[in-house]
Amino acid sequence: MTTRPSTASRSLSPDGGGDFDPYAARAQFPILSRTVNGKPLVYLDSAASAQKPRVVIDALTAAMEHSYANVHRGLHTLANETTEAFEAARESVARFLNAESPDQIIWTKGGTEAINLVASGLGQSIRPGDEIVITQMEHHANIVPWHMLRERFGAVLKWAPVTDDGALDMPALAALIGPRTRLVAVTHMSNVLGTVNDVRAIADLAHAAGALVLVDGCQGAVHCSPDVQALDADFYVFTGHKLFGPTGIGGLYGKRAALEALPPYQGGGEMIATVTEDTVTYAGLPHRFEAGTPPILEAIGLGAAIDWLGQFDAGAIRAHEAMLMDRVRVRLDGRNWLTEIGTAAGKGAIFTFTVDGAHAHDIAQVMDRYGVAVRAGLHCAEPLSRRFGVTSSARASFALYNTLEDADAFADAMIKAREFFA
Ligand SMILES: *Cc1c(COP(=O)(O)O)cnc(C)c1O
Repeated sequence: MTTRPSTASRSLSPDGGGDFDPYAARAQFPILSRTVNGKPLVYLDSAASAQKPRVVIDALTAAMEHSYANVHRGLHTLANETTEAFEAARESVARFLNAESPDQIIWTKGGTEAINLVASGLGQSIRPGDEIVITQMEHHANIVPWHMLRERFGAVLKWAPVTDDGALDMPALAALIGPRTRLVAVTHMSNVLGTVNDVRAIADLAHAAGALVLVDGCQGAVHCSPDVQALDADFYVFTGHKLFGPTGIGGLYGKRAALEALPPYQGGGEMIATVTEDTVTYAGLPHRFEAGTPPILEAIGLGAAIDWLGQFDAGAIRAHEAMLMDRVRVRLDGRNWLTEIGTAAGKGAIFTFTVDGAHAHDIAQVMDRYGVAVRAGLHCAEPLSRRFGVTSSARASFALYNTLEDADAFADAMIKAREFFA
């Protein structure tokens, strides 16, 4: 599974991935050559966290072995080298998202903290009755911070519904946006349904009402080649560990005016201009939002991941992942005990499902015996589970390093798991 079939070449990949060779990409991930329960690992949980390529592992090691100190404050060589690497990572992210400037990328410890940063800032000007429009397909990270504004300041949450096939109901969303809307917070791509939302159309609706739009790009950054300027997003949130980078790093892109309108998030070193006994003034972007020692190594690792990702053709990766989904559907066609949740047109490579007569946790556990790693539960999206009337579902999520063999192993393991319980 980790070796490339001898007949495959870059352009004649059996996956039909055009310019993209999944076997060559896969070979760069050391963990993917291990076995699980005596079987080759089939890792289908990348929507929860992606594996790390050798270059990321090496970038972290190299930083720690050769060039490490705290950033910004120092005048010595190691401090300067580390600061350069740390800021170069910010530049990589800015290029990746097509941000106007690296100053508009704020490091956080992940997607969750980035949304909390915006919510905490916005909360300070929320009046009772101000509305926040979200959707039924949001991750808890893009729900709970807004619930907190409801509890603390009387904000009103308005929920845009999801249709039976897992698409966002756009007319219903449009009808929810009005003069009291302060923010529309929407996911770029659902971590459960795989649905990719028309974020630009949503931003246009929000802006026409004088509201801001926050895009949760924790999945979108990986699969949708985001261009924050084309999307016209006021805020775009991403997380490093799903982008083949380390945990403990993520960030927030914001339009300059939107970021400058937010009060500082946490207080401490690095985020100030001057401090006296009676006064404090704050630093400019991005440092104003980065109190304390930042996740230096993690940022350097994420920069390496993004630079690595940049060598591939994003469209070819999408085509490859779509082909894996097609393969799964063909292999499982006609199984009337299987329900796929989320079948919207143009969805990303996430296959969420239930099996009649078997709990999703049990299915996931049996699949693990065959080396197939899938997730089961609510996927941090309880309102969405309720919308589809399920208390739990299993999810296979595909990434660029998955192959046709993985798709087949997944289908085979699912059939065996179902036989186990039938
Ligand atoms: C993973 C995820 C998050 C949260 O990201 P963290 O890295 O856990 O902070 C938010 N939204 C979506 C859609 C996600 O997939």
